[in-house]
Amino acid sequence: MNAIATPEQDQNDYEALLQFLYIAPIGLAQIGPDGEIVMINALCAQLLMPLSRDGGLNNLFVALEEVAPDLRYRVGDFEASSGMICDAMHLYVDTSRSGRRDAQVLSLSLLKLDQERCMAVLGDATQAVRRERELRQSQAWIHTLVAGLTDYALVPLDDQGRCQEWNAGIERVTGFAPSLVQGASYSIFYPPDAMEAWRATDRLHEADHNGWSFDEGWRQRADGTRYWGSCLIAPMHEAGQPKTSQRSYSLILRDISDRREAAEALRRSLWTDHLTGLSNRRVLFETAELELQRWRRAPRPMSVVMIDADHFKRINDRFGHPVGDAVLRHLATALLTTFGPNSTVARLGGEEFVALMPSTGTDDAAAAALRLCRAVAAQAVQVGDHTIAYTVSAGVATMDAGLANVEALLERADIAVYAAKAAGRNRVTCWAPSLIKA
Ligand code: GH3
Ligand code: MG
Ligand code: MG
Repeated sequence: MNAIATPEQDQNDYEALLQFLYIAPIGLAQIGPDGEIVMINALCAQLLMPLSRDGGLNNLFVALEEVAPDLRYRVGDFEASSGMICDAMHLYVDTSRSGRRDAQVLSLSLLKLDQERCMAVLGDATQAVRRERELRQSQAWIHTLVAGLTDYALVPLDDQGRCQEWNAGIERVTGFAPSLVQGASYSIFYPPDAMEAWRATDRLHEADHNGWSFDEGWRQRADGTRYWGSCLIAPMHEAGQPKTSQRSYSLILRDISDRREAAEALRRSLWTDHLTGLSNRRVLFETAELELQRWRRAPRPMSVVMIDADHFKRINDRFGHPVGDAVLRHLATALLTTFGPNSTVARLGGEEFVALMPSTGTDDAAAAALRLCRAVAAQAVQVGDHTIAYTVSAGVATMDAGLANVEALLERADIAVYAAKAAGRNRVTCWAPSLIKA
């Protein structure tokens, strides 16, 4: 059984509704078919007042004449007995007179209730429009950044760094299928154990703090193959947003293998000897300096072997420079084989080489140098039609407290080589104080 409202109850409900409309956080006005304002709430009056030319608010069409001159025709032309005449129409208010920088934007919706009544809903859309414009600008910015890059993926992350959605870019770069990506930590794009949970979270904090977080290194595809990639994480929530509210991030993952190869090539050209592929002088001196620092902290024997090809000028003279080059490459291979991975083998220049041997005393260094001499002397080099037999001489010096630096150590090795030459070549001489007098 329906309850029938008494006239007093109707009146009370109506008063309550009016009260509600009056304090509602949106601008509301009820108008008649010619725009005359029958009821208007505070916010609506506040928004319309600056537009009013006569200081009054009697007619909505008149109040909005400048920004929406066709409003009365829209209402007049709307034939249906009720319905939405316009929905969130943007009205751009010229605020140059009031000195505001941005134009104010009002949002107007008009609902026809019946032949006699329309309800206008008015709001200030300035902020929303500005945010939308900023969003479009940053989208354009991102587009410019990533345009032309073939291999990048945009991964939306939640506040825990879990991938929120899968997209074709992710599959193209990483090979991961949707079911593997969704809900997984972004650490799946790194090799196993390369991005522990605490580090993954740290990077989100870093992004909160700095506005972004960036790293470059090895990444792993779904099939286990690795590639050199970069990861940029940017927060998508507003700065300063409290921790309790929903945070989200955007991860831009890129395959930059090409760039790494270019950097590697540059590094190689700076650090290696172009003829033999051995380390160059620069690497030798830098490595020796580091070893010397270690030696000072915890003295352990440290030796250098200097190697000089015997009568090399004759080889050039007889077979030509290119053949001489081939012999030097052969010697480089013999050096690497003899001294092994713990030593730094460098070409000092010309037909002179140095092996830096950390944690090695004079005897072991001399033994290695002798193995080299014997190996070179035992095997002639075949270059084209020529069979070239050659020998090398070596000098050994070991670091001691009396030496100031790397240069002083190499000078002793040089003196020892000179002594080996003087003693008949194809031999090893260890530095000794007596050599200086010799
Ligand atoms: P020694 O036994 O006294 O060391 O005699 P040597 O002829 O090896 O020594 P010297 O210093 O008189 O000559 C070194 C020669 O090495 C001179 C030069 O023609 C040759 N040489 C230096 N650099 C290169 C190079 O890059 N390629 C070639 N093919 N020869 C080089
Ligand atoms: Mg020489
Ligand atoms: Mg020589």
